[in-house]
Amino acid sequence: METILLLAHVEADGSLAKPALEALTAARTIRHYLAGSSLVVGLSGADVGDAVRWIGSCGAARFLGVSGPAFAEPRYATDAAAAEALARASGATLVIAPATSRWSRCLPGVAQRLNGRIDTHITGAMATEGQLTVSRWYYRQRMEALLQRTQRPWFLAIDMGCHEPWAGGSVPVALESVAVDLPESATRTRFLDFRAPQAGEQTIRPDAGLLFVTGAGWTKKQPDGKTHAEEAAALILDFLRKTQASLGSSKSLVDLGGEGQAVLPFLSHLNQVGQTGSTPRHPKGLATCCHGEEPHVVGWRFITERRAVNLDPNCGWARGKADVLYVADAFEVMRKVNEMLAAG
Ligand SMILES: Cc1cc2nc3c(=O)[nH]c(=O)nc-3n(C[C@H](O)[C@H](O)[C@H](O)COP(=O)(O)OP(=O)(O)OC[C@H]3O[C@@H](n4cnc5c(N)ncnc54)[C@H](O)[C@@H]3O)c2cc1C
Repeated sequence: METILLLAHVEADGSLAKPALEALTAARTIRHYLAGSSLVVGLSGADVGDAVRWIGSCGAARFLGVSGPAFAEPRYATDAAAAEALARASGATLVIAPATSRWSRCLPGVAQRLNGRIDTHITGAMATEGQLTVSRWYYRQRMEALLQRTQRPWFLAIDMGCHEPWAGGSVPVALESVAVDLPESATRTRFLDFRAPQAGEQTIRPDAGLLFVTGAGWTKKQPDGKTHAEEAAALILDFLRKTQASLGSSKSLVDLGGEGQAVLPFLSHLNQVGQTGSTPRHPKGLATCCHGEEPHVVGWRFITERRAVNLDPNCGWARGKADVLYVADAFEVMRKVNEMLAAG
């Protein structure tokens, strides 16, 4: 009989963020698969009362909380202490947590303290002959592995975007407070602020409904024999501002800057998708002026509905990997799309 602990930290406003609600869905799925298992919720933060009520109808048998100002800050010592206390108080054999930077940093250490094991980047769960089986991807998302373990407690860090966020009614529930004895040194490290590495316009939006992928074609010579990088930049930015889509790019396009060629100034390597870039999860994807295997095969791996605009009807990867390929000039297409968006 497994005891499943859903571990989450509350936000500064006392709410639970989407990754926590997605992990709750994962924990409920695991309970569904494992007959006789029970679900316990364990929250930490300055004040967990509102969050506990908010997910009160999730079907957990117990709601545990570690509260206090020291647990508001993202910090290894206090986050690890809270997670350890919640895991011990719940008697958890399975600990499910969202792969936030806070939990990703401290949970391997907590698993070690409890003589458990941890697996990260978990994307799904199922049962095989009554045993929990979880999935994750290796080799830049090219191979999927199914994992089982006998060691307990087993910590699972759930990748974001793989489960629907749990949504249910708010119900008052009894909160069991879990006390944590913090040594003075635990609060020595202070959190100051977040510093984002990217300067200029923010174009990466993990929660966007659409991933807009740009390829090197945007800066190549066009049928009139000239490049039109400035117009390309204006069309792309206009589209992104109007749709709030997230911007992905092929490696060739982000590399061009280093080669002294015409570039799109708002792109950085953080935008790159593919084998040596990211594999984001969006419901829809639109690739433009892009030919490469890596952006289409690996970068798009988790995109549900995929379309591409390419001048070349024989572009093998766009043809092979897009659900719909528009054989057209992306400049003309995006000009028209922006006009239609402006017209509402
Ligand atoms: C080890 C390794 C790892 C790699 N990792 C990655 C990775 O992570 N991500 C990645 O992206 N690449 C990666 N690459 C590079 C990859 O193989 C391709 O070279 C690259 O993706 C090609 O980029 P592209 O499609 O933007 O450019 P191109 O191949 O130059 O394609 C440009 C396309 O634009 C089209 N086009 C031009 N003008 C227009 C227009 N007006 N309208 C419509 N279409 C137009 C052309 O028809 C053409 O198909 C990797 C390569 C190696 C060897």
